[in-house]
This record gives sequence, structure tokens and C-alpha cells, in this order.
Amino acid sequence: MKYGHFIDYVKSQFQTEKFIPLHEPRFNGNEKKYLCEAIDSTFVSSVGAFVDRFEQNVAGFVGTKYAVAVVNGTAALHIALVVAGVESGDEVITQPLTFVATCNAISYCGAQPVFVDVDQHTMGMCPLSLETFLREETEMRDGVCFNKRSNRKVTACVPMHVFGHPCDIRRIAALCKEFSISLVEDAAEGLGSRVEKKSVGTFGDSGVFSFNGNKVITAGGGGVIVTNDERTAKLAKHLTTTAKVPHAWDYEHDSIGFNCRMPNINAALVCAQLEQLNDFLVSKRKLAMAYNQFFCDIDIDFKLEPEGTTSNYWLNTIQLVDKENQVEFLKQTNEMGVMTRPVWRLMNQLSMFSDCFCMPINNAVFLSDRLVNIPSSVIIHK
Ligand SMILES: *Cc1c(COP(=O)(O)O)cnc(C)c1O
Repeated sequence: MKYGHFIDYVKSQFQTEKFIPLHEPRFNGNEKKYLCEAIDSTFVSSVGAFVDRFEQNVAGFVGTKYAVAVVNGTAALHIALVVAGVESGDEVITQPLTFVATCNAISYCGAQPVFVDVDQHTMGMCPLSLETFLREETEMRDGVCFNKRSNRKVTACVPMHVFGHPCDIRRIAALCKEFSISLVEDAAEGLGSRVEKKSVGTFGDSGVFSFNGNKVITAGGGGVIVTNDERTAKLAKHLTTTAKVPHAWDYEHDSIGFNCRMPNINAALVCAQLEQLNDFLVSKRKLAMAYNQFFCDIDIDFKLEPEGTTSNYWLNTIQLVDKENQVEFLKQTNEMGVMTRPVWRLMNQLSMFSDCFCMPINNAVFLSDRLVNIPSSVIIHK
């Protein structure tokens, strides 16, 4: 079997002959203690001390002034886009190589995704493709960017940091500034990833992280919006909490709000997880470096973090030579109990988004025929 060596190697790394998932959570800290504290406090729902602690600790970790806890990453993206001013009929720039939640959140605003290509190296949004779209397909009218062909307002740009590898966010941020477009980073996969010393999610108007069960750390389900802008933070908090005007007893709501607060019980879990994040990141880096060495020796491309960046190596990724090899690799590994997955189907190929404006996306097509994710859970050395 062509990929037998790899299967043996993964089993030796994870020290098991059992099924090896792509990414499973680890609960080795204060999870049970904090969950019991939350239950004993009776504050299990949408307010509580753990929610406040979580917001403070996340903001501290990524280095922003504010963090707003939300029920999941998709809702966090939705609210971040609403706060960024995305309205029905607008266009929002993103990439075809992303998880469907990015495009769903854009759609919840009544807006349409516009797809620009990704970079083959970072796998994230390609600044050159973005620049080509902005210079050739849009024009400024009274300081507002419009798509010349569709006549729609281009309000926001949502680059995604794929599998934790930072995209070229500085160049993207400069372009967004030049064209007066809001920048919302989908950093759902990138907690712990940095460009030089600066965390992903902190380069634009706001950034979003997910704490779903398959991410680096989990709240069971959860998300957060991070920002340095006070107005953004206040409005996000207001909209996620039914847009209720603070009052001792009165129910006054000043706009159509959402109920997408993170429950305190979930915040308790993720507070315990956050305490272990640095250790998890060390373990994930160690596994990635071992994989890199292994694949170097058998001449398969392992996706290393782009130069000048630090990846959290959320999901380790290899690039096979063609589609045929990709399918063969997936078949052999999954049959032998080593879970591997191809990258997502490109968004412009999904029926809901097939009519959306799309730049040439040769790199996205190239990568989608070749990328495969391999087991990446944190390994606890006893
Ligand atoms: C996980 C993920 C999300 C959504 O997060 P949920 O918490 O599952 O809603 C959004 N975007 C990307 C790129 C993701 O990987």
C-alpha cells in the first residue's frame, strides 16, 4: 500500500491502534471544576462570571481592548458583519476556499459573497487577486466602493486564515483602507496564530474566533468577536443581547436584536480550556514539525507556516501532486482508521453561491484538488 508508511507513522505518533480522528478536544485541566462552579452558582445561562472572565482572558490573549462572547463562530461573523455596516443588497469580498459558515454569515445579512482567489502558499486570500478586483471591477462613488457591473455597494472584506496559517493580512488591510471597505477577519481557525507578534483577528475592524468542538480549544459551542474599537464592541454586545436598553426592570429594545450570547456553562468550559492553550500550541507545533520531517523524507509537500508568521497548526495539511493521488490517499488512510479529509468544496461551486461574482480562481481550484488534512489533535504526553 502506497501510503502504509504514513498510516504506521500516525499510529506511532498518537500511540494507538484505534481509530484516529482528525481533531478531538482534550480536557485535562479545570473543566469539571469550573462546570460544577457554574452549576452551583445557578448562573448557567446567558450571564455569569465565566462569560466576563472569558471575554477578559480572550482579549488579553489576542491583545485587543474588547472581546464579545457569542454562541458560536457563525453568529460571531454575522454580528461582526452587521456591525461593520453590511446591509441587504451589498457585496462582501471573500475567498472560495473557506468553510461554508463564512458565506452563510454574509448571506444572513442579505448580502452576496464576491470571490477572489487564494494564494497557493498561504492558502488564504490572495492580495493580488483582491487588488485586481478592486482596481478593475469597482469604482468609488462619494467615498463608497461600488461594483461597476452589478452596481452594488462593496461594504466589507472577509479573508480567512486557512487551517490556522495566517494569510497576507497586512496587504489586505492596506487595500481595504484604500477602498474604504470594512475588514472582518474570519480567524475562526486561527486562535494562537500570529503575524510577527500580532495575533490574527486584530488587523481589521473586528476579528472572529470559533470555539466549536473541533477547534484548537472548545466551549462545546462558542464564538467571540474581538476589536479595538469601542463602538464596534458596544454595538456587538448590544445586538447579541436582544438590543435591550439597560434598565432596572423595564423591557425596552431599540432595534431588532439577536439572542446569541454565550451561555455561562459554555464559558466555564472554555475558561478552563484557555488555561491550557499555550501548552496545546506547543504540542501542536511539535507534531507539525514531526510531520514536516516525515513528509520531507518521502517527497510530499507539507504546508508549513508562511514566512514571518506563526501558525497554530490547527489542522495539519499536505499537498499531493494531483487529484488522483488525493483520492488514493483519502481512500487508503480512511479505510485503515486514520481520518483524513479533503479541503472543502469551493464555495462558488455550491448551488447557493454559484451565481456570485467570481474572479479567476486558478489557485483555489489547484489547491482543492490536492490538499488533505491529517490527524492533528493535541498529544498529551503522560
Ligand atoms: C469553524 C468555522 C466557523 C464557524 O464556527 P462555528 O463556531 O462552528 O459556528 C467559521 N469560519 C470558519 C473558517 C470555520 O472554520
